[in-house]
Amino acid sequence: MDTAEVLVVGAGVVGLAVARALALQGREVVVAEAGRLVGSQTSARNSGVIHAGLYYPPGSLKARLCVEGRERLYAYCRARGVEHRRCGKLIVATSEGQLAQLDAIALTAANAGVEDLRRLDGAEAMSLEPGLQATGALLSPSTGILDVHAYMLSLQGEAEANGAVFALGTEATSVTPMRNGLAVAFGGATQLLARVVVNAAGLGATTLAARVSGLGAEHVPRLHLAKGSYFSLRGRSPFSRLIYPVPQVGGLGVHLTLDLAGQARFGPDVEWVEAIDYRVDPARALAFYEAVRAYWPRLEDGRLAPDYAGVRPKLSGPGEPPADFRIDGADRHGIAGLINLFGIESPGLTASLALADVVAGRARETLED
Ligand SMILES: Cc1cc2nc3c(=O)[nH]c(=O)nc-3n(C[C@H](O)[C@H](O)[C@H](O)COP(=O)(O)OP(=O)(O)OC[C@H]3O[C@@H](n4cnc5c(N)ncnc54)[C@H](O)[C@@H]3O)c2cc1C
Repeated sequence: MDTAEVLVVGAGVVGLAVARALALQGREVVVAEAGRLVGSQTSARNSGVIHAGLYYPPGSLKARLCVEGRERLYAYCRARGVEHRRCGKLIVATSEGQLAQLDAIALTAANAGVEDLRRLDGAEAMSLEPGLQATGALLSPSTGILDVHAYMLSLQGEAEANGAVFALGTEATSVTPMRNGLAVAFGGATQLLARVVVNAAGLGATTLAARVSGLGAEHVPRLHLAKGSYFSLRGRSPFSRLIYPVPQVGGLGVHLTLDLAGQARFGPDVEWVEAIDYRVDPARALAFYEAVRAYWPRLEDGRLAPDYAGVRPKLSGPGEPPADFRIDGADRHGIAGLINLFGIESPGLTASLALADVVAGRARETLED
C-alpha cells in the first residue's frame, strides 16, 4: 500500500490551504479530489467576499478565524499578486424598526475584535451611495472582494512547489483505522495509508465521515443543505461598495456584491433543499426584486438575470440557531489522526488561511507523537 504522512480529502479552498500549510512545514502531503478540477464546488459558488467578521458570536471559531483569516488573506493576496479590493460594505436598515439590529451587529462585531465599523445615519449612507434608500447603516471598511480562482491556484501552486501531490478524479470512499495509520480506499482496489487524514470534503464531509470504520454515529452531524441562488444585474452597477440588508433567517439577506470587473450580482437567498442541484429557478427573481427594492427602489424591471447557485453545508436546520465550524480531532471522536471538518459554510473562504493553521497544528500533534 502507498503511504503518505498526510492525506487531505477535498481540494476546495480549505483543503488547498491545509495542503499548502502542511507542505510548507515539510510534510509529505497527498490531496485527493473527487472532481476533475480543484475548487469547483462551494469554493467556486460563493460571493467571493472577504468578510470583516461582523456577525459571529464572540468566542466562536467563525468569529476568531474570520477576523484572523481576513487580515492573513489580504496580506496573502498583496504578497502573491492575487487580485483583490478592499471596497468596503454598507449594512443597510430600511426602516426605523431595523435600526436596533444595526446596533446589535455593531456590538457583536466589537466583541469579536472588529474595530473599524462606523455607524451612519440614513443621509450619510445615501450620500456615499446615491442609489440607496436607507434609514441608517453600518460602514465596514475592511470588507473586500478577491479573485477566488486566482487565490486557489496560488494555494495549489505553493503546495505543489513544496512537494504536495494532487490526485484529481479520486474520490475517497472509506477510511479504516490501522495500527500504523488510516487506510483510505478510493473505490476499487486503490488504497493509501496516511498517518493523518484531513476530511475537507465540504458537502461530502459527513458522507465520508459515515464511512470511517469505528467512528460513532454521534460524531457524524446531520447535514442541512441551504441553497443560495444569485441573479446578476444587467448593465452598470450604481454602487461602488457591497450593499447588505440586515441579516435574514439562515443567511445574510439578498445582498449586492461586485466582482473585480465591477459587475454586480444579487444573492444568495436561502432555500432549504434535499439534494444538490445548482440550476437557478428564474421564478425566484420575483422575490429578489422585492428584497432588493427595499434598499434600491429604482431597480427597473428586466434587469435581473439568473446567474449561478451554491449550497451551504449547514449543521443547523431551518429555525435553529446558526452552528459554528467544527474541527473534530481525536480528542472529540477518539480516532488518532482523523480530522473532520464539518459545517464550513461562510466565512470559510475568508477564514481559510487561519483555519488551515489550526488544522496543521492538530496534524502536527499526531505526526510528532
Ligand atoms: C452561496 C454561498 C456564498 C458564500 N459566500 C462566501 C463569501 O462571500 N465569503 C466567504 O468567506 N465564504 C463564503 N461562503 C463559504 C465558502 O464558499 C466555503 O466556506 C468554502 O468554499 C468551503 O470550502 P471547502 O474547501 O470546505 O469546500 P468545497 O469548496 O466544497 O471543497 C470540497 C471539495 O471536496 C471534494 N470532495 C467531496 N467529497 C469527496 C471525496 N469523498 N473524496 C474526494 N474529494 C471529495 C469536492 O469535490 C470539493 O472539491 C459561501 C458559501 C456559499 C454556499
